[in-house]
Amino acid sequence: MIDPAKILHDVFGFPSFREGQEEIVRAVLAGEDVLAVMPTGAGKSLCYQLPTLAREGLTLVVSPLIALMRDQVAALRHFGIEAGSLNSANDPAENRRVVDAVRDGRMRLLYASPERLANTGTTEWLGRAGVNLLAIDEAHCVSQWGHDFRPEYAMLGEVRQRLGNVQTIALTATADVATRSDIMHRLFEEEPRLFIHGFDRPNLRLAMQAKEHSRRQLFSFLDKHRHESGIVYCSSRDATEKLADSLSQAGYRALPYHAGMPQGDRAKNQDIFLQEDGVVMVATVAFGMGIDKPDVRFVAHAALPKSIESYYQEIGRAGRDGAPADTLTLYGLDDMRLRRLQIEESDAADEQKRVERQRLNALVALCEAPRCRRQTLLAYFGESTEPCGNCDLCIDGVMSFDGTIEAQKLLSA
Ligand code: ADP
Ligand code: MG
Ligand code: ZN
Repeated sequence: MIDPAKILHDVFGFPSFREGQEEIVRAVLAGEDVLAVMPTGAGKSLCYQLPTLAREGLTLVVSPLIALMRDQVAALRHFGIEAGSLNSANDPAENRRVVDAVRDGRMRLLYASPERLANTGTTEWLGRAGVNLLAIDEAHCVSQWGHDFRPEYAMLGEVRQRLGNVQTIALTATADVATRSDIMHRLFEEEPRLFIHGFDRPNLRLAMQAKEHSRRQLFSFLDKHRHESGIVYCSSRDATEKLADSLSQAGYRALPYHAGMPQGDRAKNQDIFLQEDGVVMVATVAFGMGIDKPDVRFVAHAALPKSIESYYQEIGRAGRDGAPADTLTLYGLDDMRLRRLQIEESDAADEQKRVERQRLNALVALCEAPRCRRQTLLAYFGESTEPCGNCDLCIDGVMSFDGTIEAQKLLSA
């Protein structure tokens, strides 16, 4: 076996592993089945590419999108690695090249769509050629509880068996407990080694407050962030318009954003937010998907988000540049009731409702956490950390639970 660190330098040209990569590479090289959960951009591809190069044989990579496969194949070939893909967009010459390289045993990484692998002829051919490692990228697609369910992914457990129960690594950025256990059950017979890394965002300050005078609480938070770019999430379209108005009157550059606005107005407000400094976007959850503005300095929730997943996604839009960013979530009993009602009244299947309830309960528990919010949040995703020293509970948690401590200190001094 070739030394992984050497391959990292010599083939990929990277000076060091990123958080989590080395442990996963070692587990794969030790022959273990792995489920790796890391955020987008963390470097999951390397976790199956590098082990492939450290030993002999073919790795079969399942990927849901032709565009993704093409990018990866181009990047690997650029590094001088024999790679190819089986997909409907290939021309005959490319197909020939791929088939020949697999037959001659030269192919190192072969990408295929799950639809292709649903074809037993293809898997039999691959089985004869000999697959050494099965890598299932975007593995959350097997789960109905994810946002991207793909029925063909559900077949991959069977594909794995047809390939002789080949060693498997599944990778996803979705750190949701329900999705994760779905992946485990559908793809593996025995529990794989689970790795969860990189969900902590230390530059985000977390804070949550029960609503008392919600407007005053929100305004005092925003007052600390005058002239900074930020997002305030509201739970209704109407609320975004009203709040954007009152913030404008209070001298902020505040704009509403929700799915009920005319397309042109929405696009215009989004452009202003992206291009100018110091704009407050007052939005429903319709805003944010795919928005990449590095210097968002704060995210506030004027009401409780839908679930712990949504909370994590939404606050995650702040501080992408790594500089300190502030968050505040306001919650009330009426929000909690409303969110519950929304789940019960939706036309989702019972099982889906159960999962949604669980995600909401986890968020309520985070609101009521007795200690470090970051620890509680990351524990939900399965990652453990020290108390952060930077959330509301680490900074002044004791005071808000027991205001007499200060007095006691005075008395005992
Ligand atoms: P993910 O699949 O987790 O979203 P990718 O595998 O696409 O992430 O990797 C994201 C980027 O990080 C790629 O450009 C990749 O080349 C780069 N990368 C991966 N590992 C390292 C590393 N150890 N050092 C530097 N860059 C890396
Ligand atoms: Mg990826
Ligand atoms: Zn903390």
